[in-house]
Amino acid sequence: MRLFVQIILGIFVLVLLGLAIFLVPPHLQTQGIEPDLPNEQALRDLMTAQDGPIAVHYLLTASQDVRGRQLAHTTFLVEWANGNLFAIDVGMDEAGAADFAELMAGISGGGEAQFFGTLGEQLGSELERVKGIGFTHLHIDHTQGTTSFCDARGTGTDLLQTNDQRDAHNFNTVEGAEIVEKSCLSRGTLDGREVLTNDAFPGLGLIALGGHTPGSTLFAVGLKGHLWLFSGDTTNTKADLVNNKGKGFLYSGIFVPENTGRTEDLRLWLTGLDTHDDIDVVVSHDLEALLATGMPSFGQ
Ligand SMILES: [Zn+2]
Repeated sequence: MRLFVQIILGIFVLVLLGLAIFLVPPHLQTQGIEPDLPNEQALRDLMTAQDGPIAVHYLLTASQDVRGRQLAHTTFLVEWANGNLFAIDVGMDEAGAADFAELMAGISGGGEAQFFGTLGEQLGSELERVKGIGFTHLHIDHTQGTTSFCDARGTGTDLLQTNDQRDAHNFNTVEGAEIVEKSCLSRGTLDGREVLTNDAFPGLGLIALGGHTPGSTLFAVGLKGHLWLFSGDTTNTKADLVNNKGKGFLYSGIFVPENTGRTEDLRLWLTGLDTHDDIDVVVSHDLEALLATGMPSFGQ
C-alpha cells in the first residue's frame, strides 16, 4: 500500500514538473512584453486624421452559447470614403468554428454554436474592397479564417502587424502565426511610436499591448467625433473589463499563459478611456456589449 502511495505521489510530482517545464518559458516571455502605452491625446489625434475613416461595422461569423451568454466571433470592418475596407480579425471557417465550439464545450461549458458564413461569403462582391487586415492577436479563433479569405480574395490585401505580433509566439499562437505567414497577406509598413499608423489607412492606429498574448494589439479607429478601441481578448466580457476582473488561474496560468499584471494595467487604462462618451472599448467576444454600443452591422 505504501509503495502504491509513493508511486502515485511520484507520478504527481513528475506531472507538476512537466507542466512547470512547459509553462515557465511562455510565462517569462510574456512577462517581458510591456510596451509603453500612448496617452489619450495621441489616440484622439486619430480622430482628426485627414481623409480618416467614415464608418465602422461589425460582422458576425459564428457564435456560441457559453453558460447563458453569447460568445461571438466578430470581424470589424473599417470603411473609408474611397471605398476601402480594413478588417480587424477574420474569425473562422465553418470547420474551424465547429472545432473551436467543441473545444469550448470541453473546457468551459460551451453549448449550441451557430455559423453565419466566412468573411468572404458574407461580403460577396464587396470582398475586393478589403485592402487591409490586422489581428488583435494570433489565436486560432481570430486567424483561421485567413485561408478562406485568401482563397476568395487572392492578393491585394496588406497585413498591418506589430513586430511583437510577428516575432513573439507561444504554444497558443504558433498555429495562427503560421496561417498568417503562409497566407496571401503582404506585410505593410508602420510608422510611429506608441500609436503605429500606415498612410493607406488614415485614422487607424495599432498599439502593442501584450498581456493576453505576446503580440496582442489594440486597434484604434478615429472617426470624426468617435473613437473606437478594439481590445481583442484582453478581457472576455465588457463586464470583466469595467469591473477589473481577471480570468482566473486555470485560464491565465495554464491554458493561455498571460501577463496578468499587464492585463490588469490594460483593464484599468481601457476602462478610464471608455468612460468618455465619445470613446467605446469593444471586447471581441462580447456580443451583448457590442450591440449596446449601437455599432451597425455591415450592410446595415
Ligand atoms: Zn478569442
